[in-house]
Order: sequence, then C-alpha cells, then structure tokens
Amino acid sequence: TIVTRFAPSPTGFLHIGGARTALFNWLYAKGHGGKMLLRIEDTDRERSTDAAIHAIIEGLTWLGLTWEGEPISQFERRERHAEVARELVAAGKAYYCYATPEELTAMRETARAEGRPPRYDGRWRDRDPSEAPAGVDPVIRIKAPQEGETVVQDHVQGRVAFPNKDLDDFIILRSDGTPTYMHAVVVDDHDMGVTHVIRGDDHLTNAARQGIIYDAMGWQTPEWSHIPLIHGPDGAKLSKRHGALGVEAYRAMGYLPEALRNYLSRLGWGHGDDEIFTSEQAAEWFELDAVGKGPARFDFVKLQNVNGHYIRNSGDAELVKAIEAILPEIEGGPEIAARLDDAARSKLLALMPGLKERAKTLVELIHSAAFLWAERPLALEPKAADLLDGDSRGRLRGLASDLEAAEWEIPALEAAVRAFAEREGIKLGKAAQPLRAALTGSTMSPGIFDVLLVLGRQESLARIRDQAL
Ligand code: GLU
Repeated sequence: TIVTRFAPSPTGFLHIGGARTALFNWLYAKGHGGKMLLRIEDTDRERSTDAAIHAIIEGLTWLGLTWEGEPISQFERRERHAEVARELVAAGKAYYCYATPEELTAMRETARAEGRPPRYDGRWRDRDPSEAPAGVDPVIRIKAPQEGETVVQDHVQGRVAFPNKDLDDFIILRSDGTPTYMHAVVVDDHDMGVTHVIRGDDHLTNAARQGIIYDAMGWQTPEWSHIPLIHGPDGAKLSKRHGALGVEAYRAMGYLPEALRNYLSRLGWGHGDDEIFTSEQAAEWFELDAVGKGPARFDFVKLQNVNGHYIRNSGDAELVKAIEAILPEIEGGPEIAARLDDAARSKLLALMPGLKERAKTLVELIHSAAFLWAERPLALEPKAADLLDGDSRGRLRGLASDLEAAEWEIPALEAAVRAFAEREGIKLGKAAQPLRAALTGSTMSPGIFDVLLVLGRQESLARIRDQAL
C-alpha cells in the first residue's frame, strides 16, 4: 500500500509552502487508499522547538490534513541511524574518516583556488583504520560511486542525472555519533515503509545523495516527486507580503480551511479549469505526474475569491461558530467577543444570509456585522456621512414616523418606505440609502428591510432619529 509522509523541521511555524507539501502528500495517500505519516525532523537540537512542533500540529489539524498514528520524532531514532551507519561500515559501503578540521579546510581552500566546488577527496576511503591518529573522533562517510552518474527518476522533474564526480563521500554519521540529515531521512523513510516521497524541489540534489544510501543498504528507493516551490504573483520568491506566512495567520485572516485546501491544491496542480472542488474530488483526481515543473504563483486575490465562494456556501450557524472561534486571534476580536451575547448572536445569525453574500473572509464578515451591536449614536463611515446631507437628514424624521406606524415585518416595512418615497417624490433609493447609512453607519449592508427587522423597532427608530434633523 501507498505510504507518504510529511517531514517538517520544527524550526518555525507551518508556513504556506509546507502546508501545500503536506496537502499533496495527503491527497495522494487519500486518493490511492494509502496513508500519510508525520515525521518531525527535530535532529537540529538548537533550532528545533516545542512551540514549533505545536504550531505544525495545530496548523495541520486546522487544515484538516490528518496523518496516521503518532508523529514520529527523528531525534528519538538516532540510535537506529547510528546502527545503520555502522552496518554500512561493516559491509564495506562506508568508512571511518579521521581527517582533521585543518585538513578539511585545506581541501576547501585548494578547491576555491582551483575554482571548483569543495569536495572531500576520499583520503580515508581505502586507508586502514589501524592508521587512525589518536585523539580524533572519526565521522562515517558513505562510499559514493566515483564514476558515471546517479539518476533521480522523478514524477515531477522527470529524469535528472547527477555526475558522480560532483557527489563526494558525504558524512552520514558525525563524530559525536549523531546522524546527518541526509542519512536520518533515508533510514526513517525506509523504516516507516514510505513508498512515495513528495517534497519541495529544493531537495532534489539530496535525492541523489539519498539514493546512494538506499543503494548501499540494498533498499528500494521510494518514488520521488519534487514539487516546485511557491512564488509570489510577480514570480519572485514568496515574501511575507505575498503570503509567506504561517497557516495560523491565514486562520486569523478569516480563511476557511476547506477554501485554503482548495486553493493550495491548485498551486502546481489542477484539474482542467476547475476552480472549486472538494478535497474528496481532488484526492480522486490528483496524480503526481500531473504536477507542473514551473514555480506556482501565490495569488491572494484568487484565494479570496475561493474563500468567498466557501463562505457563501457555508451554513449560517456554522459561520457564526467559525467567527467565534477566531475572535481571540483577530484585531478588535476580544471587544467583539465581549459584546456577542445571546441577543447579539441571534441577530448575527438572522442577518447571516445577507452578510455572507459579500464577505471574502470571516474577518470582513464580522466587521460587516459590527453595526448590529454598535452603540448609539453610530459612528458613520465617510461615504455614509456624505450621504446624510441636509436634505436626506431632513427626511429621516418623517420616515421614522411612518415606520413607527407600520407593522414590524418585511412586507409592511417595505410598503411604508415605498409610500414615503412616493409621497416625497423621490426614488426608492433616495430614501433607502440614507436609511441604510443611519441604521448601519455604512453604505453597504444586507437588504435594508432585513436590517430593520433584525435590529427591531426600538433600536431602528432610535438610530434613524439620531441622524434626523
Ligand atoms: N525536513 C525537511 C524540510 O523541512 C524535509 C525533508 C524531506 O521531506 O525529506 O525541508
């Protein structure tokens, strides 16, 4: 069966590129009856933190990218990594190297002087360990092939050949007995039964080196897929401004996880021109060979449009819940949370069908609803203030009286506003827009009769009279 894995280094949050890598692993496993595993690559003890592990797990969970079993700690497997390295020495596939730091520096300097990339010269490859100098802790180096080429057959990149003269006898076990990244990944992927390695194309050269370890152990190499990194809309490396943020930032900006999954799945892959599809459909359609080689471009506008689609199609109660969940994380959220009592919540729910038509994010959604529990007199947005000129303010008092006499239900309210406009000899909009400004402080809102209904008679009349001349 198919086994994929997501193998983040816990040195920071789960950034958007990592989330996309996890998503592709998840989609592929899900669509092929396989499973995705999670391995935390925490061997760099200085840079790995528990906070980062926590953020990665939270981020994946929020995005709905589930893995099977407990997360595996690479660091905890260091004994096993060392054991494999020693096995390779015993089999004559790797060797102890006693080169001193001074010797290595000299090798680098010669390489620099000759204008070629630094490369270990293999001086301990065939030397007898009995020649080992006293007091030097050796590293273990793999015996890399010296002629020909190492080929990475990749589902995304195609066939990529690396001349072996460029791949030196790299270190697999450091002198303190800890594994190098290159080695730990191979041992773990093998032991975890990983069949498909799907990761960023910045690891393509590593695949060649890792292939050498697989071969030395007589293990079967996994299927490789090195996916292009995400770039900004201008083609440059993804910057913060362009979306190189942690997944939790997307949550706090009011994106829905299913919308983000939908959007991310289309970065480097796609299903024809389909823009909107479920993860179930994506899993069914997703194939590694269909992932493009070129860098994918991250586009906030597209993400917002996809998110708007998911918001419009979400249930009203579900949206209220989603809003409440992110209030602690957004600007001004705690103040809103404090005002969101049962009464306010039911108003929000009642107006949700109108509110959700316009919002691209949950944050926009909550801000567009803020008038519901705003205090009188309402602060007016500049455009709303412009609308409330002398003429329209002059009319508001009469309109309030007419509404006061009406039954507080939509057809009656609508009839009252229409009759008022006719009597005044103005278009309906000339009456409705100032009314909206007075009720919401804005020029955009859900239908004005819905707003009247949800605010209620007393609050509506008071707001209108606050703005009347
Ligand atoms: N830990 C590596 C990273 O975060 C990924 C290694 C791999 O997927 O093989 O870039």
